[in-house]
Amino acid sequence: MSETFRGFQVNKTEDGQKVELKDLTDDDLMEGDVTVRVEYSALNYKDGLAMTGKVPVVRRFPLTPGIDFAGTVTESTHASFSSGDKVVLNGFGVGEVHSGGFAEKARVRGDWLVGLPEGLSTWHAMAVGTAGYTSMLCVMALEKQGITPDSGDILVTGAAGGVGSVAVLILSKLGYRVVALTGRMAEADYLKDLGAADVIERQPYSEKARPLGKELWAGAIDVAGGNTLANVISQMKYGAAVAACGLAESMSLPTSVAPFILRGVTLCGVDSVMASLAKREEAYKRIVSDLDFERLAGLTREIGLEDVPAEAAAILEGRVRGRTVVKV
Ligand code: NDP
Repeated sequence: MSETFRGFQVNKTEDGQKVELKDLTDDDLMEGDVTVRVEYSALNYKDGLAMTGKVPVVRRFPLTPGIDFAGTVTESTHASFSSGDKVVLNGFGVGEVHSGGFAEKARVRGDWLVGLPEGLSTWHAMAVGTAGYTSMLCVMALEKQGITPDSGDILVTGAAGGVGSVAVLILSKLGYRVVALTGRMAEADYLKDLGAADVIERQPYSEKARPLGKELWAGAIDVAGGNTLANVISQMKYGAAVAACGLAESMSLPTSVAPFILRGVTLCGVDSVMASLAKREEAYKRIVSDLDFERLAGLTREIGLEDVPAEAAAILEGRVRGRTVVKV
């Protein structure tokens, strides 16, 4: 009989779903050619949705949530990985339709894994996590549009959250002048410590947007969607670009074509879940070179598996600051 290991399991019930921390066995692992001893996972907004069932993120039952993990390969028949290799996984439907990181063991497809780059520990990989890796994809999207530190100010929305905090950290290290937009002005000092030159209040951005506003931003990273993104788009400078990756406010986008046809604004969609391996490897290379790991550790808290349900509820209420690593 196989050894048991601790992990969360989500089961479907008549009125939704039930989540339990329990002893699992290898029979609970899903199909895959690589088995990983999970050392750390992370808590992202999507994990909050999966754990609480607020939105049907989990679409196969029973399933272990956790869209991220980092750990050591224990078994592999995949050509790129052997026992002892350190690996990281972000997305690819893990924690949604394939069991993920909130358990001591995971079995996945080797094609979804990235070998941990030199200089990145499993803890740091999860301090980065999907949120941090998405921030880097957003920065790369702005760069692709030709936005440089000389172009002007960059606005980051949801700045005190996971994607936002890491985006502020990366952009300020790259020499951009960053303005942080937050609903938590009490976190202004925290955001300035991360490198924000200015911190502005979210509330006016929650109001209905006008087609065009004052030209303020050369670039923006948005995690909110809804009126916030619509207001940001209407305030972009001529030729500016917005990287949109989230829906923390809303899935809707009540905007007009005016900023696009009169100011040549570009809206870049950013998806981390199905991003190609080449893009992931480039993002991780950039994370190693362009992220200040000491400061990343400063914005990261560590919790245990048993703390995940409470923290999952907190992240959905916008009460979690920065990043949360889960020691598995
Ligand atoms: P967090 O919960 O850590 O951060 C979200 C932040 O958004 C909050 O901290 C808050 O920041 C802000 N916010 C919350 N409610 C509102 C609101 N009503 N209006 C405006 N801002 C609001 O989540 P993550 O950073 O992990 O994720 C952020 C978003 O990005 C989520 O929607 C997530 O699903 C998405 N995402 C998308 C990915 C992709 O591949 N496209 C990958 C990763 C995340 P503050 O308190 O500073 O205002």
